[in-house]
Amino acid sequence: MTTAELIEEARKLDAAATPGPWAANRNNVMATESRLIAYTGSESFPYDKTRAAAAFIARSRTLLPQLADAYVAFHAKVREKAVVYLRVTDDPRDGRTGHCYLCGYGWAEGDPEAHAPDCPARPMEPGT
Ligand SMILES: [Zn+2]
Repeated sequence: MTTAELIEEARKLDAAATPGPWAANRNNVMATESRLIAYTGSESFPYDKTRAAAAFIARSRTLLPQLADAYVAFHAKVREKAVVYLRVTDDPRDGRTGHCYLCGYGWAEGDPEAHAPDCPARPMEPGT
């Protein structure tokens, strides 16, 4: 699954779910106005584990979309700092060359960006 697909899935789950924030109260995951979202109690697991599961679910309600937004913003900032287009000559007819300061790869303007496979500045989905 690609990063873009993960972010899209997180945003779809966020949009479809009962609005947050949710809160954990022992084995209960509660939405606003004390409405029960989920009960994590189980005879198969110790109380501390089912209570931790409720806390995880409740916190994930707001954490997941926050992390998706943070990743997108961070990736945009990395690209803003790393990807530049430079003029090869003083003649504007010569066009520009793309360059990545992080991986050192370059490409002709109009061509797809070229980056090292592990470069954090590459477009979110390599090859697109
Ligand atoms: Zn790069």
